[in-house]
Amino acid sequence: MHNAAFAQLGINAHYEALDVPQGELAEVLATLREAEVYGANVSIPHKRAVMPLLDHLTEEARAIGAVNTIVNHNGELVGYNTDAAGFLQALKDVAFEPRGQNAVMLGAGGAARAVAYALLTAGVKQLAIYNRTTERARALADHFAELGEVTPLSDDGLLGAVKEADLLVNTTSVGMEQAGHDPNLSPLLTGNLPEAGLVCDIVYRPAKTRLLREAEAAGLRVQNGLPMLVYQGAEAFRLWTEQDAPTQVMMRVARASL
Ligand code: NAP
Repeated sequence: MHNAAFAQLGINAHYEALDVPQGELAEVLATLREAEVYGANVSIPHKRAVMPLLDHLTEEARAIGAVNTIVNHNGELVGYNTDAAGFLQALKDVAFEPRGQNAVMLGAGGAARAVAYALLTAGVKQLAIYNRTTERARALADHFAELGEVTPLSDDGLLGAVKEADLLVNTTSVGMEQAGHDPNLSPLLTGNLPEAGLVCDIVYRPAKTRLLREAEAAGLRVQNGLPMLVYQGAEAFRLWTEQDAPTQVMMRVARASL
């Protein structure tokens, strides 16, 4: 989608995927300081590991505790996190205003940190976090305690909290289509859905996870992870090029390639 965006705006640049072994991270980062490099995106498992190797971090990246975008400012590397902004922009597509709403988030991994930050800074009334490993949900809730009303959920509390949620977000990898994962799984037991409201799954492949199919069958509004993916990319593109990204082109190309 980035290459399509460069082509659309006539920018002579290209985006490529690099497989970086853990031991070579510092070496690869050094190459980003070269004058002709805009920057990079960072994915698992380097989102946290890059942080001490950068010259500056935005407040957002620091608060989230992960960097997904690096910008080369004249040889100085600045770490940003555009996942939070991407998630909030995606909610706008379905006219969901988080302020004052009850949100339940499934998962407490890297993406969950950005989604939790996004929802709390956007003013949700309450954020409840459920995770397979309860201790990680508790740690995440503690981490963001100063930003609002955020609580970890136990197995016992999950059913009731989901039922009353205005927004349910899956940030776990359950249901994704990738080697080692079963795309027919849902992070929730069948029937455990909100009574009303929006169900988001930040997984983008398959386009409709089992969770979203079940939510849709129950008459709920749903959104998959594609808009978040595109909007976090569009924000990175804007930071690198200082030009607005052609999001429709990016969306079309991303959807087609998935
Ligand atoms: P991560 O840091 O590895 O976290 C994985 C999360 O999934 C953890 O909460 C983990 O729980 C949970 N989980 C994994 N397997 C599970 C299972 N079998 N049952 C229950 N819970 C399970 O990964 P991540 O970076 O947060 O990414 C999570 C998903 O979000 C991926 O599918 C990724 O593609 C997607 N994502 C989408 C976007 C987007 O732009 N749309 C952006 C980032 C990520 P434990 O703590 O118990 O292990």
